[in-house]
Amino acid sequence: MTDYRAMESKYYMHVVNRQPVVIVRGEGTRVWDDEGKEYLDFTAGWAVNNVGHANKAMAEAIAEQAHTLLQTSNQFFTVPQLELAEVLVENSVLDKIFLCNSGTEANEGAVKLARKWGRLNKNGPGEIITAYNSFHGRTMNMVAATAQPKYQEAWAPIPTGFVHVDFNDLDQIKAATTDDTVAVMLEPIQSEGGVNIPSPEYLKGVRAWCDEKNLLFILDEVTTGLGRLGTLFGYEAFGVEPDVITLAKGLGGGVPIGAFLCNERANVLEPGDHGSTFGGNALTCAAANASTRYMVDNNIAAHAAEVGDYLMASLKGLQSKHEIISDVRGMGCLIGLEFSTDIAAALLPACNAEGLLLNVTRPNLVRWLPPLTVTKEEIDEAMVRLDRALDAAKA
Ligand code: PLP
Repeated sequence: MTDYRAMESKYYMHVVNRQPVVIVRGEGTRVWDDEGKEYLDFTAGWAVNNVGHANKAMAEAIAEQAHTLLQTSNQFFTVPQLELAEVLVENSVLDKIFLCNSGTEANEGAVKLARKWGRLNKNGPGEIITAYNSFHGRTMNMVAATAQPKYQEAWAPIPTGFVHVDFNDLDQIKAATTDDTVAVMLEPIQSEGGVNIPSPEYLKGVRAWCDEKNLLFILDEVTTGLGRLGTLFGYEAFGVEPDVITLAKGLGGGVPIGAFLCNERANVLEPGDHGSTFGGNALTCAAANASTRYMVDNNIAAHAAEVGDYLMASLKGLQSKHEIISDVRGMGCLIGLEFSTDIAAALLPACNAEGLLLNVTRPNLVRWLPPLTVTKEEIDEAMVRLDRALDAAKA
């Protein structure tokens, strides 16, 4: 049998400490490894497979598009790109879209748009306020926007133009705003940063402050967009209307695609300002269009809200047996399970052994990011597996 782990260490740059699981196939919430072992996948490719693995509507759209047209360049119109633009604009509070290839790239585009908007509407390119513990991506600018030292330290000099404040503290945004400020960019919920949920008033307060000071309000919805929080877009869950949002992850349901959308107020980009060879590619757009329409047509966001509540209650139910669980927090199908000790490194292999895939972003926190199509029965099964894994990890 091929030793895939040895192949990885021979050929692949060691930038991720992978779990020793070789996933070869998926269906719905389940995946199988190269030895035929079955797992419940509560990572969903890091919040990507929102409509489940091997979703039929997506698979058919991809196959049909692959037989029809893969790529033309943005010199020409293509149908999948325009159909995707239509479904996203018509179902959001935004008016225009640009399609790219990843979340990082979407955020880069949003920052360029904000800087141009600042030149046209204020006195210069301007600074962007972002939050500590955020995560906006891995390019140099997004490392600068991401206010976590561990993502910055190795890469100095770090680009300037970003000012950092504590998340969920409107007063700090007010204090950090100067004549140079052009925008505030936040995640509705900080996901990678520890599943940090702001108070219900915070984002509304940021919106009002941006209106008062004539700033753009940018929401990085790379993780929260496309149903994850139990609403199609995360801003709906907080009752705000941003000027710009960025999307990726669940947008493609498994193919690499990103997007930034803006309202008319922020619609300043002109020919030559921005572009991409692959952005809005026919194949990825056909896949994203199928995934997004499946989500809208089947109200997957409402399902995510219901099963997310069920998952949260189920995890809380384990607290009485496993006192090591110190907190369960989240919204929709983005949930953090926090422990009073740094047990995550021991828990993950125990979960793998039980057939449950989870994600760790902090030594004492595991993230639950199931496909949004997950069922209550699958959640019940996952709880049995988690219970056993916790017993094993604590032993
Ligand atoms: N923004 C947020 C909120 C993210 O969680 C991520 C990735 O985890 C990114 C941006 C970067 O997206 P990508 O990895 O697609 O470049």
